[in-house]
Amino acid sequence: MSEKSMVRVRFAPSPTGPLHMGGVRTALYNYLFAKKNKGTFIIRIEDTDQNRFVEGAQEYIMDAMKWCGIMPTEGPGIGGEYGPYIQSERQHLYKPYALRLIKDEKAYYAFDTPDELEIVREQAKTMGMPNWQYNGITRTNLKNSLTLPHDEVEKRLANGDAYVIRMKMPRNTDVRFEDKIRGWVTVNTNNLDDKVLFKSDGMPTYHLANIVDDHLMKITHVIRGEEWLPSAPLHVLLYQAFGWEAPEFAHLPLLLRPDGPGKLSKRDGDRLGFPVFPTNWITAEGELYSGYREKGYFPEAFINMLSLLGWNPGTPQEIFSLDDLVQEFSLERVSKSGAKFDAEKTKWFQAQYLRSKSNEELAELLSQKLIKKYDKIILIKVCELMKERATFIDDIYTEGKYLLDKPETYDENTVAKKWKEDSAELMNEWKTILLAINEFTAENIEIKFKEFLTEKGLGIGAVLPLFRLLLTGQGIGPSMFEIASFIGKEESRNRIEEGITKLQIKH
Ligand code: GLU
Repeated sequence: MSEKSMVRVRFAPSPTGPLHMGGVRTALYNYLFAKKNKGTFIIRIEDTDQNRFVEGAQEYIMDAMKWCGIMPTEGPGIGGEYGPYIQSERQHLYKPYALRLIKDEKAYYAFDTPDELEIVREQAKTMGMPNWQYNGITRTNLKNSLTLPHDEVEKRLANGDAYVIRMKMPRNTDVRFEDKIRGWVTVNTNNLDDKVLFKSDGMPTYHLANIVDDHLMKITHVIRGEEWLPSAPLHVLLYQAFGWEAPEFAHLPLLLRPDGPGKLSKRDGDRLGFPVFPTNWITAEGELYSGYREKGYFPEAFINMLSLLGWNPGTPQEIFSLDDLVQEFSLERVSKSGAKFDAEKTKWFQAQYLRSKSNEELAELLSQKLIKKYDKIILIKVCELMKERATFIDDIYTEGKYLLDKPETYDENTVAKKWKEDSAELMNEWKTILLAINEFTAENIEIKFKEFLTEKGLGIGAVLPLFRLLLTGQGIGPSMFEIASFIGKEESRNRIEEGITKLQIKH
C-alpha cells in the first residue's frame, strides 16, 4: 500500500463544551473505520474560535474517549509525526496559506468593520432581504482589496488596519463531490458566500485551519456529522484553490430526539431523564449534566448502543464487542436518514452486558461500591442470584440487599394483600418443617415446600409470598428456595421469627 492510500482519519472536536453523544459516535465511526482498514485514528483539537473556548473541555473529551476505549494513536498528549495536534499551537502555520490564496486571486482582504457590515445587513433587511451575504455580488460595493485601489490596500495593511481574509467565491459554478454516504452532492456557488478564512484576531477560521490541517496531516477520509455538509462545497473549492487532492467525505446522519422530530440536544437528556453525555460534566456555574459512566453504564454497552445509531450490520445481530464492530463496520452501511435515540434500548444493552459478565467480575465491581465489606464468596453468590434481574451493578445491591442483611421493612402492598389472620400459624408450621431439613439445599427446601402445600391443600400463591415476605421483606424476587438455602437455616429461622412478630403487631 502506498503512503497516500494508507487510511488516516481524524476526529476534530472543538473544545466548546463536553462531548455530546453524537460527537462520541463520530469519534467511534472514525475509530472503527481506521481499525478496519489498518489505518490511523487521529484526534485534533480545533480551538481557533477563542470566544467559544471552554476550560476543561479538551480534558473532558480525552477522558471520555479513554473511557469508551476508542483512543486515537496520534493527538495531543499522545504524540505523532504530524503534531502539534491543537490548532492554537499551529497558529503560525495558517497565515501563509491565506496569503497564498490572495496571491493566486482566490481570496482577498476585506476591511469592512463589524459595525459597517451590521448597517449593510440592517439596510438589506428593511429592503426585504433578511439573509444578506457577503458574496460575489455584494462584495463589489464593499471595502475590500477587490474594490479599493491597490495603494490604499497597501497603506491600510502597512497601517495595521484590521482586516479579514475572505474566499473569493467563483460565480455560477457547480461544485460536485461524492459523499460516501449520500452519493453525489452538487451545489452552485451562487448559493455560497465569501466565507471568512482568516480573522482579524490573527486566527484562521475553522474552514481554513481544517483544510490546511487535513492536508498537512495526510487525512484520507473526513468522517463527520451532517451539520458540516453545507461547509463541504467550500472545503472542496479550497482544496482546488490550493491544488491539493481532497480527502473522501462521509457525512454521518443526525442523532434524533426519542420523542419527536429534531436533533437530540443537550437539554433533551435532562428533560426526558437520560444522559446525553458519556461522562458527567459540571459547568462553570456548577450545573451538572449527567453522564453514562456515572449512571453506571458499562462503556461496552454505551458503545454498542451508539454503533447502531446510524449504522446497521445487515443482519439481526445486536450485540457487538468493539472488536466485532471493527470487523463488521463499513461506511456503506451507514444510513442517510437520522437515527432516533432510544433510552430504553440503551438500558437493554446495559442489562445484556451485565448478564454476560462472570459472577466473579460482578462481585468485584459490587464490592467496590459497597461501604460495608462482605465476604467475596457471598458477593459472588448474590451476583449469581440477582444478575438476571438487574440492569446496573447498583441494582444488584438495592434489589438484593436482603441477601446480605435481614429486611428492615416489609412491602406494604404484599402485607396488605397476603398477610391474614392465620398467616403466623401457617408460617410457624412451615418453619418447623424447614428447620427439620438436614441438607439445606434449594432442591430439598423445594421438595419439602411442595409437600407442605399438598398437605395443607393450599396453592403456591397463598404460601410462597408469605415466606418471601418474612425472609426478604419483598413481594417479588428470585427463587425463594435459593434464597433460603443461601442465607442458611439459622438466618432463615431468625428472619421468620422476627418477621412473624413484627407483622403480627402490625396486623
Ligand atoms: N471542529 C469541527 C467540530 O467541532 C470539526 C468538523 C470536521 O470534522 O470537519 O465538529
